[in-house]
Amino acid sequence: MTFSEGGRFEGGRVKRHGRGGTAVAGGGLVGIIALAIFLFTGQDVSGILGSGQGGGASQPVEEVGECTAEQANADPLCRYSATLESLDVYWAATVPAGTAFAPPSGNEFTDGVATGCGQASASTGPFYCPADQGIYLDVAFFDLLQQQLGAQGGPLAEMYIYAHEYGHHVQHLTGVFDSADRSGGGAESDSVRVELQADCYAGMWVGDAATREDPETGVTYLQPPTREELAQALDAAAAVGDDHIQQQSGGVNPDTWTHGSSEQRQTWFTTGYEQGSLEACDTFATDSL
Ligand SMILES: [Zn+2]
Repeated sequence: MTFSEGGRFEGGRVKRHGRGGTAVAGGGLVGIIALAIFLFTGQDVSGILGSGQGGGASQPVEEVGECTAEQANADPLCRYSATLESLDVYWAATVPAGTAFAPPSGNEFTDGVATGCGQASASTGPFYCPADQGIYLDVAFFDLLQQQLGAQGGPLAEMYIYAHEYGHHVQHLTGVFDSADRSGGGAESDSVRVELQADCYAGMWVGDAATREDPETGVTYLQPPTREELAQALDAAAAVGDDHIQQQSGGVNPDTWTHGSSEQRQTWFTTGYEQGSLEACDTFATDSL
Protein backbone atom coordinates (compact mmCIF):
# COMPACT_ATOMS: atom_id res chain seq x y z
CA MET A 1 0.00 0.00 0.00
CA THR A 2 1.55 3.24 -1.05
CA PHE A 3 0.90 6.88 -0.42
CA SER A 4 -0.46 8.67 -3.45
CA GLU A 5 1.76 10.83 -5.60
CA GLY A 6 1.46 14.47 -4.62
CA GLY A 7 0.68 13.63 -1.02
CA ARG A 8 2.36 15.76 1.63
CA PHE A 9 2.35 15.32 5.38
CA GLU A 10 3.13 18.20 7.66
CA GLY A 11 4.91 16.20 10.33
CA GLY A 12 5.16 16.83 14.05
CA ARG A 13 3.11 13.69 14.54
CA VAL A 14 5.73 11.28 15.88
CA LYS A 15 8.11 11.99 18.74
CA ARG A 16 11.39 10.12 18.65
CA HIS A 17 12.71 9.21 22.07
CA GLY A 18 16.46 8.83 22.08
CA ARG A 19 18.67 6.15 23.47
CA GLY A 20 19.26 6.02 27.17
CA GLY A 21 16.31 4.07 28.45
CA THR A 22 16.57 0.71 30.13
CA ALA A 23 18.04 -1.58 27.53
CA VAL A 24 16.36 -4.95 27.26
CA ALA A 25 17.18 -6.88 24.15
CA GLY A 26 14.23 -8.26 22.27
CA GLY A 27 15.99 -11.39 21.09
CA GLY A 28 15.79 -15.00 22.12
CA LEU A 29 13.23 -16.86 24.14
CA VAL A 30 12.83 -14.03 26.60
CA GLY A 31 11.75 -11.84 23.73
CA ILE A 32 9.20 -14.38 22.56
CA ILE A 33 7.74 -14.81 26.01
CA ALA A 34 7.55 -11.09 26.49
CA LEU A 35 5.82 -10.77 23.15
CA ALA A 36 3.33 -13.45 24.07
CA ILE A 37 2.37 -11.38 27.06
CA PHE A 38 2.63 -7.87 25.78
CA LEU A 39 2.13 -7.95 22.09
CA PHE A 40 -0.45 -5.43 20.97
CA THR A 41 -1.78 -5.37 24.49
CA GLY A 42 -3.56 -2.08 24.39
CA GLN A 43 -4.36 -2.90 27.93
CA ASP A 44 -3.46 -1.10 31.06
CA VAL A 45 0.12 -2.22 31.24
CA SER A 46 0.96 -0.21 34.34
CA GLY A 47 1.13 -3.33 36.44
CA ILE A 48 3.27 -5.14 33.89
CA LEU A 49 5.75 -2.54 32.80
CA GLY A 50 8.37 -1.23 35.17
CA SER A 51 7.72 1.67 37.47
CA GLY A 52 9.39 4.18 35.21
CA GLN A 53 11.32 5.40 38.22
CA GLY A 54 15.05 5.75 37.96
CA GLY A 55 15.30 3.66 34.84
CA GLY A 56 17.27 6.18 32.87
CA ALA A 57 14.13 7.20 31.08
CA SER A 58 14.68 8.73 27.69
CA GLN A 59 13.20 12.06 26.76
CA PRO A 60 11.69 13.24 23.50
CA VAL A 61 14.54 14.44 21.40
CA GLU A 62 13.05 15.19 18.03
CA GLU A 63 9.93 15.02 15.96
CA VAL A 64 9.53 13.49 12.55
CA GLY A 65 9.17 16.47 10.24
CA GLU A 66 7.33 17.06 6.99
CA CYS A 67 7.29 14.12 4.61
CA THR A 68 6.27 13.80 1.00
CA ALA A 69 4.37 10.73 -0.15
CA GLU A 70 7.55 9.49 -1.79
CA GLN A 71 9.41 9.73 1.52
CA ALA A 72 6.56 8.03 3.35
CA ASN A 73 6.79 5.16 0.90
CA ALA A 74 10.53 4.77 1.43
CA ASP A 75 11.24 5.68 5.05
CA PRO A 76 9.68 3.81 7.99
CA LEU A 77 9.51 6.88 10.25
CA CYS A 78 7.88 8.99 7.57
CA ARG A 79 5.48 6.10 7.00
CA TYR A 80 4.61 6.02 10.70
CA SER A 81 4.02 9.76 10.77
CA ALA A 82 1.99 9.88 7.56
CA THR A 83 -0.09 6.89 8.62
CA LEU A 84 -1.04 8.63 11.85
CA GLU A 85 -2.04 11.77 9.97
CA SER A 86 -4.30 9.70 7.74
CA LEU A 87 -5.73 7.88 10.76
CA ASP A 88 -6.40 11.23 12.48
CA VAL A 89 -8.53 12.44 9.60
CA TYR A 90 -10.36 9.14 9.26
CA TRP A 91 -11.23 8.68 12.91
CA ALA A 92 -12.13 12.33 13.50
CA ALA A 93 -14.90 11.73 10.94
CA THR A 94 -15.76 8.18 12.00
CA VAL A 95 -15.96 7.99 15.80
CA PRO A 96 -19.51 7.33 17.02
CA ALA A 97 -21.79 10.34 17.43
CA GLY A 98 -21.35 11.81 20.88
CA THR A 99 -17.71 10.72 21.16
CA ALA A 100 -15.33 13.63 21.51
CA PHE A 101 -12.33 13.07 19.26
CA ALA A 102 -8.73 13.89 20.12
CA PRO A 103 -5.78 12.19 18.43
CA PRO A 104 -3.35 9.97 20.33
CA SER A 105 0.31 10.91 20.53
CA GLY A 106 2.71 8.94 18.34
CA ASN A 107 6.00 7.81 19.84
CA GLU A 108 9.00 5.91 18.57
CA PHE A 109 11.81 4.82 20.81
CA THR A 110 15.04 2.89 20.90
CA ASP A 111 15.79 0.55 23.80
CA GLY A 112 13.45 2.07 26.35
CA VAL A 113 11.01 4.86 27.13
CA ALA A 114 9.09 6.11 30.15
CA THR A 115 5.34 6.21 29.54
CA GLY A 116 2.21 6.97 31.52
CA CYS A 117 1.87 3.19 31.83
CA GLY A 118 5.40 2.61 33.09
CA GLN A 119 8.78 1.88 31.59
CA ALA A 120 8.69 0.11 28.22
CA SER A 121 11.52 -1.75 26.54
CA ALA A 122 12.14 -3.01 23.04
CA SER A 123 10.69 -6.40 23.95
CA THR A 124 7.42 -4.83 25.06
CA GLY A 125 6.21 -4.69 21.50
CA PRO A 126 3.94 -1.94 20.15
CA PHE A 127 1.30 -0.80 22.59
CA TYR A 128 -1.23 1.87 23.38
CA CYS A 129 -1.15 3.52 26.79
CA PRO A 130 -4.57 4.87 27.83
CA ALA A 131 -3.10 6.82 30.74
CA ASP A 132 -1.28 9.22 28.42
CA GLN A 133 -3.18 8.39 25.23
CA GLY A 134 0.01 7.47 23.42
CA ILE A 135 1.01 4.87 20.85
CA TYR A 136 4.49 3.51 21.55
CA LEU A 137 6.70 1.51 19.27
CA ASP A 138 10.32 0.58 18.82
CA VAL A 139 10.82 0.24 15.07
CA ALA A 140 13.14 -2.69 15.79
CA PHE A 141 9.92 -4.56 16.49
CA PHE A 142 9.38 -4.98 12.77
CA ASP A 143 12.61 -6.94 12.54
CA LEU A 144 11.42 -9.09 15.44
CA LEU A 145 8.13 -9.67 13.69
CA GLN A 146 9.95 -11.06 10.70
CA GLN A 147 12.79 -12.88 12.41
CA GLN A 148 10.99 -14.44 15.37
CA LEU A 149 7.41 -14.69 14.24
CA GLY A 150 8.08 -15.37 10.59
CA ALA A 151 6.04 -12.50 9.19
CA GLN A 152 6.72 -11.30 5.66
CA GLY A 153 6.83 -7.68 6.72
CA GLY A 154 6.16 -4.91 4.23
CA PRO A 155 4.68 -1.43 4.44
CA LEU A 156 1.07 -2.47 4.90
CA ALA A 157 2.08 -4.86 7.68
CA GLU A 158 3.56 -1.88 9.52
CA MET A 159 0.54 0.27 8.81
CA TYR A 160 -1.78 -2.44 10.09
CA ILE A 161 0.05 -2.35 13.40
CA TYR A 162 -0.22 1.43 13.68
CA ALA A 163 -3.90 1.23 12.79
CA HIS A 164 -4.47 -1.53 15.34
CA GLU A 165 -2.94 0.54 18.13
CA TYR A 166 -4.95 3.53 16.95
CA GLY A 167 -8.01 1.30 17.24
CA HIS A 168 -7.28 0.94 20.94
CA HIS A 169 -7.25 4.72 21.22
CA VAL A 170 -10.70 4.82 19.62
CA GLN A 171 -11.83 2.21 22.15
CA HIS A 172 -10.44 4.40 24.90
CA LEU A 173 -12.44 7.36 23.59
CA THR A 174 -15.66 5.35 23.24
CA GLY A 175 -15.35 3.80 26.68
CA VAL A 176 -14.94 0.20 25.51
CA PHE A 177 -11.69 -0.01 27.43
CA ASP A 178 -13.47 0.85 30.64
CA SER A 179 -16.57 -1.26 30.10
CA ALA A 180 -14.79 -4.43 28.95
CA ASP A 181 -13.56 -6.87 31.56
CA ARG A 182 -9.95 -7.16 30.48
CA SER A 183 -8.77 -8.97 33.58
CA GLY A 184 -8.97 -12.48 32.16
CA GLY A 185 -8.04 -14.45 29.06
CA GLY A 186 -9.69 -17.12 26.96
CA ALA A 187 -10.93 -17.48 23.42
CA GLU A 188 -14.29 -15.83 24.19
CA SER A 189 -12.98 -13.32 26.72
CA ASP A 190 -13.48 -9.58 26.65
CA SER A 191 -9.71 -9.28 26.25
CA VAL A 192 -9.89 -11.12 22.94
CA ARG A 193 -12.95 -9.13 21.85
CA VAL A 194 -11.11 -5.86 22.50
CA GLU A 195 -8.16 -7.01 20.39
CA LEU A 196 -10.25 -8.34 17.52
CA GLN A 197 -12.23 -5.10 17.44
CA ALA A 198 -8.95 -3.17 17.11
CA ASP A 199 -8.03 -5.44 14.18
CA CYS A 200 -11.43 -4.70 12.63
CA TYR A 201 -10.91 -0.97 13.10
CA ALA A 202 -7.53 -1.29 11.37
CA GLY A 203 -9.28 -2.92 8.43
CA MET A 204 -11.84 -0.09 8.32
CA TRP A 205 -9.10 2.48 7.90
CA VAL A 206 -7.28 0.51 5.20
CA GLY A 207 -10.53 0.17 3.29
CA ASP A 208 -11.18 3.90 3.49
CA ALA A 209 -7.75 5.43 2.95
CA ALA A 210 -7.65 4.90 -0.81
CA THR A 211 -10.73 7.04 -1.37
CA ARG A 212 -10.45 9.72 1.33
CA GLU A 213 -8.81 12.93 0.15
CA ASP A 214 -6.40 14.91 2.25
CA PRO A 215 -8.17 18.27 2.71
CA GLU A 216 -4.79 20.03 2.50
CA THR A 217 -3.70 18.64 -0.85
CA GLY A 218 -6.85 17.22 -2.43
CA VAL A 219 -4.94 13.98 -3.02
CA THR A 220 -6.18 10.63 -1.71
CA TYR A 221 -4.03 9.39 1.13
CA LEU A 222 -3.27 5.99 -0.28
CA GLN A 223 -3.47 4.08 -3.48
CA PRO A 224 -5.76 1.06 -3.35
CA PRO A 225 -3.88 -1.84 -1.78
CA THR A 226 -2.75 -4.55 -4.13
CA ARG A 227 -3.59 -8.16 -3.47
CA GLU A 228 0.01 -8.72 -2.39
CA GLU A 229 -0.07 -5.79 0.04
CA LEU A 230 -3.29 -7.00 1.61
CA ALA A 231 -1.65 -10.38 2.01
CA GLN A 232 1.16 -8.66 3.93
CA ALA A 233 -1.29 -7.16 6.39
CA LEU A 234 -3.13 -10.46 6.82
CA ASP A 235 0.17 -12.22 7.25
CA ALA A 236 1.15 -9.82 10.02
CA ALA A 237 -2.22 -10.37 11.69
CA ALA A 238 -1.64 -14.12 11.54
CA ALA A 239 1.89 -13.81 12.90
CA VAL A 240 0.63 -12.12 16.06
CA GLY A 241 -2.22 -14.54 16.68
CA ASP A 242 -2.08 -16.11 20.12
CA ASP A 243 -1.97 -19.64 18.73
CA HIS A 244 0.93 -18.81 16.43
CA ILE A 245 2.91 -17.14 19.20
CA GLN A 246 2.20 -20.06 21.53
CA GLN A 247 3.41 -22.49 18.87
CA GLN A 248 6.71 -20.62 18.90
CA SER A 249 7.16 -20.85 22.63
CA GLY A 250 5.50 -24.03 23.84
CA GLY A 251 1.94 -25.30 23.56
CA VAL A 252 -1.27 -23.80 22.30
CA ASN A 253 -3.76 -23.10 25.07
CA PRO A 254 -6.90 -21.13 24.11
CA ASP A 255 -7.76 -20.59 27.78
CA THR A 256 -4.91 -18.11 28.02
CA TRP A 257 -5.57 -16.24 24.80
CA THR A 258 -5.75 -12.50 25.08
CA HIS A 259 -5.63 -11.41 21.44
CA GLY A 260 -7.30 -14.13 19.40
CA SER A 261 -6.07 -16.77 17.00
CA SER A 262 -4.35 -16.09 13.70
CA GLU A 263 -7.54 -16.96 11.85
CA GLN A 264 -9.69 -14.73 14.06
CA ARG A 265 -7.36 -11.77 13.65
CA GLN A 266 -7.38 -12.15 9.87
CA THR A 267 -11.15 -12.57 9.82
CA TRP A 268 -11.84 -9.41 11.79
CA PHE A 269 -9.34 -7.33 9.84
CA THR A 270 -11.09 -8.47 6.67
CA THR A 271 -14.52 -7.71 8.12
CA GLY A 272 -13.48 -4.13 8.82
CA TYR A 273 -11.86 -3.80 5.41
CA GLU A 274 -14.83 -5.11 3.48
CA GLN A 275 -17.73 -3.71 5.52
CA GLY A 276 -16.21 -0.49 6.79
CA SER A 277 -18.63 0.15 9.63
CA LEU A 278 -18.42 0.40 13.39
CA GLU A 279 -21.46 -1.88 13.64
CA ALA A 280 -19.74 -4.65 11.69
CA CYS A 281 -16.83 -4.37 14.12
CA ASP A 282 -18.93 -4.91 17.24
CA THR A 283 -17.08 -7.95 18.53
CA PHE A 284 -19.06 -7.76 21.76
CA ALA A 285 -22.36 -8.36 20.00
CA THR A 286 -21.59 -11.72 18.43
CA ASP A 287 -21.38 -15.29 19.63
CA SER A 288 -19.09 -16.32 16.80
CA LEU A 289 -15.72 -14.68 17.04
ZN1 LIG B 1 -3.98 -4.72 20.73
